[in-house]
Amino acid sequence: MKPQQQFRGSPEPSIPSTETRMRATTATSISIASDDRVFVLTGAGISAESGLPTFRADDGLWAGHRVEDVCTPKAWKRDPAGVWEFYSARRAAAQKADPNPAHIALAELEARLGDRFFLCTQNVDDLHERAGSVRLLHMHGELAKSRCGRECGRLPIEDWLSYRTLDEVGHCICGARTSSSLARHLWRGIAFRNNSPRRP
Ligand SMILES: [Zn+2]
Repeated sequence: MKPQQQFRGSPEPSIPSTETRMRATTATSISIASDDRVFVLTGAGISAESGLPTFRADDGLWAGHRVEDVCTPKAWKRDPAGVWEFYSARRAAAQKADPNPAHIALAELEARLGDRFFLCTQNVDDLHERAGSVRLLHMHGELAKSRCGRECGRLPIEDWLSYRTLDEVGHCICGARTSSSLARHLWRGIAFRNNSPRRP
């Protein structure tokens, strides 16, 4: 019989604070064997608990905007300032939000399991990272990254800035204005193969 790591109901090890804060109503315990690997997928709900709007609400809008108005090449071509205004607001909101107990619980689980744990999130904020998660992948890109608007192949850069005008937006070394890395992923529909960016 495999040795088990109990995450509820056993004196050692235990995560009582997690149990309390998660307020789980159904699955209240898990047993993980010492050679098990754990993969967790998180979505909009976990960020919603921190006050961030889901990508698409019931009305099909993202934070009150039609996705095609902010996440398409057409929108970028027609109104890059408007697209940046939208993403700037999303960046500002994400920076004000705090990780909630669910984010913290997953970070604690990773701390226990090490490289036997991996987290994949559909979310674009950095709440998992701020909770302490390290082994994770953002399948739809990251709000805090910008990339070349011409897609010349250079890697995205970290960028938490909010832009009020296009004059404030930076440029890639190729001369093109930078665009939201997130927007690129979404509007090209390549979220599942975007994690190996082409190198220059
Ligand atoms: Zn470039």
